[in-house]
Amino acid sequence: MAVALAGLAFLPGRCAAQSAGAGAADPQIVAALKEVSAQHIQANIEKLASFGTRSTLSANDASSLSAGRGIVAARLWIVSEFERYANACGGCLDVETYKFTEQPMERIPSPTEITDVYAVMKGSDSANSKRIVLVTGHYDSRNSSNDDAKGDAPGANDDASGTAVSLECARVLSKMKFPATIVFLTVAGEEQGLNGSRHFAQMAKDRGWEIEAVLNNDIVGGDKNSGQIPTVVRVFSEGLPAAATDKEIQRIRNLGGENDSASRQVARYIADIGRTYDAGVKPMLIFRLDRFLRGGDHSAFNQQGFAAVRFTELREDFHHQHQNVRTENGIEYGDLLKFVDFDYVARVARLNAATLASLALAPAPPANVHLLTKDLENDSTLTWEESPGGQAAGYEMLWRSTSSPEWEHSLKVGKVTRATLQISKDEVIFAVRAIDDAGHRSLAVVPVPER
Ligand SMILES: [Zn+2]
Repeated sequence: MAVALAGLAFLPGRCAAQSAGAGAADPQIVAALKEVSAQHIQANIEKLASFGTRSTLSANDASSLSAGRGIVAARLWIVSEFERYANACGGCLDVETYKFTEQPMERIPSPTEITDVYAVMKGSDSANSKRIVLVTGHYDSRNSSNDDAKGDAPGANDDASGTAVSLECARVLSKMKFPATIVFLTVAGEEQGLNGSRHFAQMAKDRGWEIEAVLNNDIVGGDKNSGQIPTVVRVFSEGLPAAATDKEIQRIRNLGGENDSASRQVARYIADIGRTYDAGVKPMLIFRLDRFLRGGDHSAFNQQGFAAVRFTELREDFHHQHQNVRTENGIEYGDLLKFVDFDYVARVARLNAATLASLALAPAPPANVHLLTKDLENDSTLTWEESPGGQAAGYEMLWRSTSSPEWEHSLKVGKVTRATLQISKDEVIFAVRAIDDAGHRSLAVVPVPER
């Protein structure tokens, strides 16, 4: 089954499909994951907490900067940290800021400058460097009152932990080379209303950035409460795409596609990565945009049509989020360093780094994937265009029962752009992904019907 010709019909009954995993581990990625350091992560989270507050509204408090307090001091430090990694890799990272002034709105009482900080590791292959994978966390924090720009808000877990994941991924992955581009982002304004990521995602769309996946890490500190499971991280993904047109929603409704947004393919990819690499933490896929009635930065990217997921620890402790630092009736409140499990953050960073590296090494997903429906038949024929960028050595068909959360079967079909399976399209969901010589897989693409 190594070579397949266009139009050849595959008989899964006779030729057992392989299990639908992400394939063998890449030794380069395995080595990179060993570099992820809980000590570096701890030092970075401690540094972020040391700014006292990182309230977005503290940007208007100029006097705090000289005292080493506030979000501006924190931001300048993040820039310097990214620059340190850039110097260490001979300038392989471009350190940038994206700045705008948010006019008064809910939770922004006066015009406030908001600045996102990011490092771009441009892809080494000109035919693939337009493709982007992005990791993000928010560096702003808050205490009990969202209007409080002065009081302590250490934000060690929410979200110095996610900021530290972006930083550590940048430090470790900047020692490697990737054909596609990786962006390491930290945003402000999350607590005020996702302001930093809303503007950034809009900018990315306006500039035509081809972002394949956004990994948002928010509250990945592994709070040391008795209900925590320190080997599990939740991965949230949207069902109906926020940016879907009415026509697309109608198609999703007709075909049972509510479980197959591009974001959900990213989540399934992360599940594969969790099986292929020993990050020390397993992703628990949650088929829901976010935690119940709560939100996060990935949704701002979803709004612009980008695939984006959220990583969050399993068991949150609400005494330690959005709370003034205090003790009341014997209960300690506040988002303090002592509640963060730095080894856990390192495990989550490993899962992120393995996902980013795999995607940035992999070929682009195949384009224009179609399921032919002109003739009523029990076989299923898919067609697609070659993976742009010339890295694909072949393609894999994937399928699963409509009631299965993850891909159950995969079949290598060679370097073709059409394949027929003797499986009825009525009972399964299909996808196609590209694969290179070394076994790196692209994201899976679910076909649209072609009449
Ligand atoms: Zn948060």
